[in-house]
Amino acid sequence: MEIKVDEEAAEVVQVPSRFKRICVFCGSSHGKKKSYQDAAIELGKELVAREIDLVYGGGSVGLMGLVSQAVYNGGRHVIGVIPKTHMPREISGETVGEVKAVSGMHQRKAEMARQSDAFIALPGGYGTLEELLEVIAWAQLGIHEKPVGLLNVDGYYNPLLDFIDKAVEEGFIKPTAQHILVLAPSPSELIEKLEEYSPRHEEVVPKMNWEMEQLSYSQNCEIAMPNEGKLIMEAQLESKP
Ligand code: AMP
Repeated sequence: MEIKVDEEAAEVVQVPSRFKRICVFCGSSHGKKKSYQDAAIELGKELVAREIDLVYGGGSVGLMGLVSQAVYNGGRHVIGVIPKTHMPREISGETVGEVKAVSGMHQRKAEMARQSDAFIALPGGYGTLEELLEVIAWAQLGIHEKPVGLLNVDGYYNPLLDFIDKAVEEGFIKPTAQHILVLAPSPSELIEKLEEYSPRHEEVVPKMNWEMEQLSYSQNCEIAMPNEGKLIMEAQLESKP
């Protein structure tokens, strides 16, 4: 959160974050290094300090559990978007806060994107990579203008960044699109950069056109608070970001 000093009033004025909710993609495993786990907890605490709510893939496994627990413990709202097939406790564990049950993996990604104002990826595996690359690809097409951040803890993502450099060099990624991904080694630096982000890349499909072209279909979505063990309501969801 940017802090400005109002000279005349001689008091500290806190500028609120431009983000109400950030979606975090991260490993359903803990990873081998403690630094990955520490970064997940630190990111959760940073969201709390900046009064930002969390959207994530639901459950309590791996880094996903650490970040969601940190945000929940800090008193911020947590939304876990989880496919019905992942809901059994033995697959994903328990989700703290609000659960949005969706019918499949595609609906999950669309709903996580729709609910959030920005995205951050922590270290993770195939699932995290897939989620991260999809929101980058969507940004490149102009489907959304939400900032995408990568927390490069201990250089974990250096091979991916080298690959992106290679793809630019070889003419498969436009240099302007390289800047879609915002990088930082720590949560506070990363959120600070995301606050300042404005898109510089060319849009292939302008957002307005995309929205008009999209066939928005709705589906039933159950919203439950697992801690209270009951279904609260059913909602209609638009399945586009
Ligand atoms: P991975 O990086 O392969 O561990 O996958 C983690 C990402 O995929 C998360 O951001 C989730 O959105 C999703 N995901 C994968 N496995 C699970 C799981 N068991 N429970 C909930 N979400 C999962």
